[in-house]
Amino acid sequence: MNHCLTCKVQLDQPGLVETADCGGDCLECMGRAGDPAAAEAFLKETKALRAALQMADELCKYALPKFNWGASALDARAIQLLNETPRAISQALKGEKV
Ligand SMILES: [Zn+2]
Repeated sequence: MNHCLTCKVQLDQPGLVETADCGGDCLECMGRAGDPAAAEAFLKETKALRAALQMADELCKYALPKFNWGASALDARAIQLLNETPRAISQALKGEKV
């Protein structure tokens, strides 16, 4: 296994985009050094994570009736959220585009 030349973290750890190998240094160290491509990668991940969290937040509001007695458990939005949110969370955690 290769390690970052700067911070010594193990490179290319699954699910941890900040450990991506950028020619010997990890993505986090590249970002801290002001590398624009690293900043873009973190921005992309932040957007994917925010999108997944927004869906998860909606899922909690609309699809968990024990916390919202007035809402129908089987309305269309709840069914959509139950189908789409788990995938969005998984993709966000893997650093993929939602
Ligand atoms: Zn590093």
